[in-house]
Amino acid sequence: MKVTEVMTEIGGVAIASGGTAMNDDAILVTEDVRKIYRSGADSIVALEGLDLVVPQGQFVAVMGPSGSGKTTLLNCLSGLDEIDAGRVLVDGLSIHELSDKERTKHRARDMGFIFQAFNLIPVFTATENVELPLLLAGVRVTDARLRARETLERVGLGHRLDRRPMELSGGEQQRVAVARALAGKPRIVWADEPTGNLDSEMAVSVIDLLGELHDEGLTIILVTHDPAVAAHADRLITVRDGRLVEDKLLAGPDAREVREEVTVA
Ligand code: ADP
Ligand code: MG
Repeated sequence: MKVTEVMTEIGGVAIASGGTAMNDDAILVTEDVRKIYRSGADSIVALEGLDLVVPQGQFVAVMGPSGSGKTTLLNCLSGLDEIDAGRVLVDGLSIHELSDKERTKHRARDMGFIFQAFNLIPVFTATENVELPLLLAGVRVTDARLRARETLERVGLGHRLDRRPMELSGGEQQRVAVARALAGKPRIVWADEPTGNLDSEMAVSVIDLLGELHDEGLTIILVTHDPAVAAHADRLITVRDGRLVEDKLLAGPDAREVREEVTVA
């Protein structure tokens, strides 16, 4: 089923908040994206015929079995990886047609990334970990320090600024990683199983934080195995064998039944 059909089925509200009717407001548009992994004589079609329109400010959860293409989808749509066919437009910019340098710049300016592994630098403090990408992006040292501190305070770690990752809990480390993703004031955040390494209490704190950021207008594309995590999103897309097989709106009054169905699934 096409996105538009699903949206129409769910109702008028759905179109206003999630359908292709609002292309002008879309932050992300994909057109017939294909990704093939080749090794020797073997090739795996990891994404096929992927069409997606994400309006500015939407929180999208991506689910699907292991190996279905979720990470590939995130990496290809964010421009971390190349694609074999189709187009990906972020803010109207066809990201795979940019030069490496332009794409890196676009990523540093407009995107934040959160992964399952926190990927923090062990010898750096929380502040230094958050500062690093800012410095690499050319932000002045004093501004980078200030912004790193403000962002750590924003994620509730104002009392942990000088701690190294080893001296922090898993949930706190992931909050540092969230702060690192946010410090550059991105317009879109990509998260690949960000709660996968956290116990449920810590997972809740990270998801609540993402929810707050979404309330402030951030667009979030989040891959998860966990239906309880996905239930925080506005929209749930399901991939299987590299194809988008389901697309449901979870936000808005018409979506309550869908949300309940997801939560108990
Ligand atoms: P998911 O994140 O849903 O578990 P992935 O996107 O990681 O799935 O993988 C989708 C498919 O592509 C799987 O069959 C996987 O084995 C394959 N794949 C992923 N990355 C590579 C790679 N770098 N080289 C070859 N095959 C890959
Ligand atoms: Mg994955």
